[in-house]
Amino acid sequence: MKAHDGFYIDGAWHPAPDRDTIDVVNPADEQIIAQVPAGTAADVDTAVRAARAALPAWAATPPADRAERLAALRDVLAARKDEIAETVTAELGSPLAFSQAVHAAVPLAVAASYAELAATHSFEEKVGNSTVLHEPVGVVGAITPWNYPLHQIVAKAAPALAAGCTVVLKPAEDTPLTAQLFAEAVHEAQFPAGVFNLVTGLGPVAGQALAEHPGVDLVSFTGSTAVGRQIGATAAGAVKKVALELGGKSANVILPSADLAKAVNVGVANVMSNSGQTCSAWTRMLVHTSQYEEAVELAATAAAKYGDRIGPVVNAKQQARVRSYIRKGIAEGARLIAGGLESPREQGWYVSPTVFADVRPEMTIAQEEIFGPVLSIIRYEDEDDALRIANGTVYGLAGAVWAGEESEAVAFARRMETGQVDINGGRFNPLAPFGGYKHSGIGRELGTHGLTEYLQTKSLQF
Ligand code: NAD
Repeated sequence: MKAHDGFYIDGAWHPAPDRDTIDVVNPADEQIIAQVPAGTAADVDTAVRAARAALPAWAATPPADRAERLAALRDVLAARKDEIAETVTAELGSPLAFSQAVHAAVPLAVAASYAELAATHSFEEKVGNSTVLHEPVGVVGAITPWNYPLHQIVAKAAPALAAGCTVVLKPAEDTPLTAQLFAEAVHEAQFPAGVFNLVTGLGPVAGQALAEHPGVDLVSFTGSTAVGRQIGATAAGAVKKVALELGGKSANVILPSADLAKAVNVGVANVMSNSGQTCSAWTRMLVHTSQYEEAVELAATAAAKYGDRIGPVVNAKQQARVRSYIRKGIAEGARLIAGGLESPREQGWYVSPTVFADVRPEMTIAQEEIFGPVLSIIRYEDEDDALRIANGTVYGLAGAVWAGEESEAVAFARRMETGQVDINGGRFNPLAPFGGYKHSGIGRELGTHGLTEYLQTKSLQF
């Protein structure tokens, strides 16, 4: 796609020729592929005013009509899915097959789910002598990261629009082209002017201006815990609603009764896909001491298969960050069994699929989010030990449990402090709530739970 040299505000592209620009770089070959404007606080203000002006009419639009627009949006995204996949591959670097199967396909399912929910959700209920109205929260400031660039936009914009809110989006610096493509899709789907607005720009400038803007009623942020904490503090000062989807350090718990080979292979694939840049990735594999060496061998073999299939990480800074964690793992005494510091290719920001064994739960690589293709295999003695390790980080976003019987895995999952657990390799469900315990966030995305983040109640007493 061609990059726009402007912002999408009030239903049209507004050129911004005199702004600083952000280079969009292909991480696979380090070439600049486009430039987009870096929005200022004034640009954000223009977008928020447009969203506010559009709010009363959109909030009053019958949910069935909002559903129709969302269904149209889903259809446009479906018609442009190849272009979406190519765009994500160009600016994020993920292999095209993964971009097609995940980056382009998942947002279609999520958009479709909100077209359905907008049409079927009860925006009014009776509670005794009261009628409770579920009304849109207002203007939403959406701030998104680069790792699943379209999914993270759709997971905020679709429920917000379904709820009757209007939106200003500030996407990640690394992946603005996918966001521009989404704005084109919104336009094609004929949403009213001002209902969705896009300002590209830098986090500490445009992002911060959006989070601080008094015309924004809810800030929905996905990204790092450090920035999320700052946004939460700003929102609290302004008594503004906030939804935070933050980092993770999820545990993949393999109980002794599990199919070990399957659990290890799926676990390695989970960490290596998207080059390890998945907030919910199971980056800690917990294996019983009796099966430990067998699991280590299986994981090393599985990781080696990814050597020439893995995409680059998003930028040079991320590559340096991931490598610094690999260095730390080695320095703290973990045993490197696959990958390491050497890059699999000369050009591009690649990191070798890396696996560490003999990782102790308190090591830096077992505690901090690396956001790269690095897996830590940790030994446990018994189930209580496994639980203590699984729950022993500040995060609680996702996880997995494997056991011979589902009921055994479920019993363990009930004791985990985390927002989502895959049982024996369970499948993605676009209707299931996604979000974190502890420092992994506040609020939930997807399905009905994601919709209600954008609604507030009003009780009429009779
Ligand atoms: P980041 O926090 O640096 O950036 C995320 C977004 O916030 C970007 O759009 C950025 O421009 C903006 N931003 C940066 N500074 C800001 C500020 N001061 N004020 C307002 N906005 C600001 O994170 P990242 O490096 O883009 O993404 C990686 C992180 O995101 C990882 O920690 C990962 O776990 C997390 N993440 C979480 C989820 C989830 O659903 N929980 C999903 C994806 C990514």
